[in-house]
Amino acid sequence: MEVLETITREKECIRCGATFTATMEKLALLGWPERPSEFKRRKEHCPDCKQKLRDEMAEKSKNAVLGWTDFDAVKEHFKENPPQKGDPLIIASFQYHTNEYLRVYVEVPEHTRQKRIIVNRGSTYGGSSFYRSGQSTYHPKGQTRLLPDHPVMSELFKAFGGRLSLTDDALAAVSRGEGIESFEKDRLGVVSLKKPKP
Ligand SMILES: [Zn+2]
Repeated sequence: MEVLETITREKECIRCGATFTATMEKLALLGWPERPSEFKRRKEHCPDCKQKLRDEMAEKSKNAVLGWTDFDAVKEHFKENPPQKGDPLIIASFQYHTNEYLRVYVEVPEHTRQKRIIVNRGSTYGGSSFYRSGQSTYHPKGQTRLLPDHPVMSELFKAFGGRLSLTDDALAAVSRGEGIESFEKDRLGVVSLKKPKP
């Protein structure tokens, strides 16, 4: 789209403090994305920090699904490791920006021709029936997924119980494969990283 006008402004990054030139373009048909006075006044991140923030967000969501960013990868995993009745799996729910994990066990490994996986209990939102991609049968686009077991999560369930909420830092430690001694659970049932003793 044609750029009709460009304004620039020297700004100081709100994260790293570096000085950088912010630009805003006025596009044909669309106009300014925001009022020029607002653009000049608004503090923002430098391009490097913007990229870092995007990377951090991607890392966070990858950790939250225990590395299973791809539904097809889950499907492939269950193809190579067909779940058996009684096998432990994990339901992950991300309602309202929380990271909740429920220890479940396979009840019916291959339900109907779709080979859906039925587990012994469901999450509040997603139910207990899942496609082999881990998507919830009743809410395939919902924020609830069935995931393969994970060695660190398995230890956490054993130590802290079958329904856990994890902080972003704790999830990063899970993905690094840290041992149970790195984690603690507070009175609200949230698992976080153990704070170093003063
Ligand atoms: Zn910066």
